[in-house]
Amino acid sequence: MQGLDGLNKVPRHSYLPEKSLCLICRTPVKRSHILWRKELILLTGPVEAISWAYRCPDPACAGAEKVHFSAEAETLHLKHRRFGRDVVVHVGYRRFWYHQTMYEIHEWLIRDLGLTVSDRHVLNLIADFLALLRAAQPAKVRAQLKLLKQLIVGLDGMQPEKGNTCLYIVRELQLDLTLLAENLDDSSDATLRARLLQPLKALAEEMGLSWHGVVSDAQESIRTAVSKELPGVPHQACQSHCLRKAGDLTFQADRNMKKRLKASFRQRLRRVEQRIERLPEADPFRPVLADYADAMRTTLLEGGVAPFALGGMRVFDDLTALAASLTRCQEKGGMCFCVV
Ligand SMILES: [Zn+2]
Repeated sequence: MQGLDGLNKVPRHSYLPEKSLCLICRTPVKRSHILWRKELILLTGPVEAISWAYRCPDPACAGAEKVHFSAEAETLHLKHRRFGRDVVVHVGYRRFWYHQTMYEIHEWLIRDLGLTVSDRHVLNLIADFLALLRAAQPAKVRAQLKLLKQLIVGLDGMQPEKGNTCLYIVRELQLDLTLLAENLDDSSDATLRARLLQPLKALAEEMGLSWHGVVSDAQESIRTAVSKELPGVPHQACQSHCLRKAGDLTFQADRNMKKRLKASFRQRLRRVEQRIERLPEADPFRPVLADYADAMRTTLLEGGVAPFALGGMRVFDDLTALAASLTRCQEKGGMCFCVV
């Protein structure tokens, strides 16, 4: 039930329990007291929300102590917060889907919602959104896992800095679904078992799923943890990690070649650029040569990704192609210019 209390005041909304009968004796429940009353800020503006508690009127009934209240009212906001859940979701959406900055969101809250809030408030709302997202994750994971009969799980640890905590991500590989993400202080097999594998086993059991296999890098503690916690489950080393390891020597050699190539080329390129700058403004070759110099400089920014994208080879190929193009230009246009 909702009611408006005067036009100039904050609108007042009363929330009653959705179920109107006592669960035990089926007597209509009676209004008992106000469960909570709060001024909330929703996307539609501020509102005074009142959640009423109802009880079975028969003191002899076994259900007399049970408090009935509105489930809808409980979904309006997070406990101890005055912003509505719709505002929190909107803030999160702007931050993580539209990649808006904290200042852009702050401006939206002030301009469109007419609120007086500090920058700090925006950070709090973003933190609330992440908490909501995390709370909703188990239900989302379970709904998707219903599509499967067997699990193929990928386990990967990422440590941005040595000595820092390691972020472990556990994914279901058929669905490309993140099942767990945990920051772990240590990567011992006991920790991996307790924090990752045991919750995973419980989840598989709950969902009635069998194990098809586990994929990870060759980290010793992961191997021992999987063999102890999931005996008999096939455990394969990740092919991408293996190839990267196998291609390490080639990749290092390529990187060294790229370094030498760039070092020797950069100095000469600078000299060439200076010579181009000294050419007369009206020289028709000047813009063409400047373009070539730009293309060469861009080439020097090329990088590589292990194991197959070899940056040094790419720089070499690009420079060769540029040299061939320059030679063709010289032959066709009579351009006389020594590049290196
Ligand atoms: Zn009753």
